Amino acid sequence: METAYIGVGSNLGDREENCLGAVDRMVRMPACRVTGRADLFQTEPVGVRDQDWFVNTVVRLDTALDAKTLLKGLLRIETDMGRVRRKRWDARTIDLDILLFGERTIDEPDLRVPHPLLHERRFVLVPLVQLAPELRHPVLGASMRELLARLPEKGQAVTVYKTG
Ligand code: ATP
Ligand code: CA
Ligand code: CA
Repeated sequence: METAYIGVGSNLGDREENCLGAVDRMVRMPACRVTGRADLFQTEPVGVRDQDWFVNTVVRLDTALDAKTLLKGLLRIETDMGRVRRKRWDARTIDLDILLFGERTIDEPDLRVPHPLLHERRFVLVPLVQLAPELRHPVLGASMRELLARLPEKGQAVTVYKTG
């Protein structure tokens, strides 16, 4: 059993419905138990900036799956929800990333854990801190709260969209 944290984001279509629909689908994944979800946040696009703002959250789940099988399940949910992959960082109906998978570090072409940009992204760290402020990054050693405190807010606005 491992505890995984999954980043959830949408900036195309009904962003709230897409995020909550993805959470529902994760609840129904085999060998997984969702144990928490952060609030929904409205976040400024980072990377490709000329696109609509995102709705983001983070889900915590316990799973008996290995990380690769979990990723496969998440990519399947993205496809089922109508995500079309065009260019990198394009607008998307739903994006599901494995942020952390227990204390494990994985460095393969199609799966890198902890997510390599986790510590640079307020849209990931603000919801993560709600769920697990004292959780330590297995490579950097700092807690989620400490990582968030290091990040400047400029260009990375994150505001509560809907609580609960
Ligand atoms: P970013 O990684 O910057 O958040 P993205 O989420 O937009 O970018 P995608 O196009 O959704 O990138 O994903 C491309 C590929 O990234 C996936 O097919 C997957 O194999 C790979 N990948 C590597 N590490 C991870 C991870 N930790 N979680 C999800 N996908 C990952
Ligand atoms: Ca992503
Ligand atoms: Ca992704």
